[in-house]
Amino acid sequence: MKILVINTGSSSLKYQLIDMENEAVLAKGLCDRIGIDNSFIKHTKTGSDTIVVDIDMTNHRAAIKQVMGVLTDEKNGVISDMSEIAAVGHRIVHGGERFHDSVIIDEDVMGAIRECIELAPLHNPPNIIGIEACQHIMPDTPMVAVFDTAFHQTLPQYAYLYALPYEMYEKHGIRKYGFHGTSHKYVAQRAAAMLGKPLEELKLITCHLGNGASVCAVEYGKSVETSMGFTPLDGLAMGTRSGTVDPAVVKFLMENEKMTPREIDEYLNKKSGVLGISGVSSDFRDLEEAFDNGNGRARLAIKIFCYRVKQYIGSYAAVMNGLDAVVFTAGIGENNPLVREIIMENLDFLGLGIDPEKNKVRGQEMDISTEDAKVRTLVIPTNEELAIARETLKLIAK
Ligand code: ADP
Repeated sequence: MKILVINTGSSSLKYQLIDMENEAVLAKGLCDRIGIDNSFIKHTKTGSDTIVVDIDMTNHRAAIKQVMGVLTDEKNGVISDMSEIAAVGHRIVHGGERFHDSVIIDEDVMGAIRECIELAPLHNPPNIIGIEACQHIMPDTPMVAVFDTAFHQTLPQYAYLYALPYEMYEKHGIRKYGFHGTSHKYVAQRAAAMLGKPLEELKLITCHLGNGASVCAVEYGKSVETSMGFTPLDGLAMGTRSGTVDPAVVKFLMENEKMTPREIDEYLNKKSGVLGISGVSSDFRDLEEAFDNGNGRARLAIKIFCYRVKQYIGSYAAVMNGLDAVVFTAGIGENNPLVREIIMENLDFLGLGIDPEKNKVRGQEMDISTEDAKVRTLVIPTNEELAIARETLKLIAK
């Protein structure tokens, strides 16, 4: 059974076709600059060279058509007919309080996803366009929505509520939602498999460290606390996002730097984080190179990033009254030994300790703890597409 996974952004669309018999990726790719000039599709058939083709794609429907074209293409394709696709799994950023789990998409679900636009004005609209484009081209194929927020719906109310007047929660749904849920859940499950224990018996802290970054306390298989909040701006310092700042800074900047609400939003989301601190880059590969060349602000940016992760690890160990393992995942978590080393310094009081040799690992599952560490440290590559495909299969099999 073959499942297509779709992840739509405002001007991009990523796809993967997965054969669920053996969970092998048959093909994957990206349509970029949709609705802008110079749009192109980048496609990789597993085992073959990546091809990049400049094609006019004025909207997401045109992009889906191109995806179908390339998947069924004689030379670069992997299926002979679209009817071979059993279902489509869509990544949806915001499911509000309504969705605690993935669901089969019907009119009612579409309505609820539309209602969440207010909460995720940048993310949900392109997700909806992606679903509609697929429905138009494959009207008889079941579609499943997998939400970034769903895994965190188990947070207790005292954890998800801000100390604002309660009416703001009732009126606007202002609360912590949390994101990256699909990834936190996936690596938590893998961690349980690596540790050889049921997930329901483990206290884990999962650190998803990519351009966007968040930490999650997973107690007995459930998310009980997470660092992103009402939006993905909260928590850790990220590539270009500030993470937590004193809310009074917002008013100060608006008044003293003459920023409009839109400008301050852009400032905190796109110009801050390790980019803003270093003045070098949002990418940790560039930061590390600058660090090696003696750039003090690149060094400071890396230190601030790691310091915040460490703060969350300490905090979440307290939240759960114990800890079995810390998990590192996503671009930085999987591939950056320096960041892992700085975060894990002086956490031996929690029973944590990493082996410098094992910590050299990049991009593969590995227990990098010292032999005698009471609490394990694991590197686990995330795979959100596979997680979405599994959810999709589970629902259509019902
Ligand atoms: P996104 O949130 O956009 O999915 P990623 O998970 O790809 O981001 O993370 C991007 C970050 O991960 C960058 O800072 C980059 O330096 C780092 N990264 C990604 N891949 C590698 C790699 N192979 N080696 C070292 N660093 C990497």
